[in-house]
Amino acid sequence: MKCPFCGCDETQVKDSRNIDDDTAVRRRRECPECGSRFTTFERVQLRELIVIKRNGEKTLFDRDKLAKSISLAVRKRPISAERVEKIVNSLQRRFESSGETEITTVQIGESVMDALSHLDNIA
Ligand SMILES: [Zn+2]
Repeated sequence: MKCPFCGCDETQVKDSRNIDDDTAVRRRRECPECGSRFTTFERVQLRELIVIKRNGEKTLFDRDKLAKSISLAVRKRPISAERVEKIVNSLQRRFESSGETEITTVQIGESVMDALSHLDNIA
């Protein structure tokens, strides 16, 4: 796993534990080059989902991309990485259980907005 801060190829796993009823693994990593710490999640992908972009292009659903865009959207709020992970989980489950094999970026965007608005209600 590459360090997202300096691009160093070798980061060390400091801690690893099962989460979400053992369906995922969370690892804390540290970069020996710049000393940055970050967290990664590993998870089984149940079904492949195709995302249709606005321009009609098709691409595989990318869980990490979704997680990144949500992290960006909430970066000014006190929301933990685990919380973001939970949101991503529930969205992914929603997409996968919809019965459709394709989803548009517009639908994804709306679902994200929806999930984030619920977050505000709780906070
Ligand atoms: Zn680094």
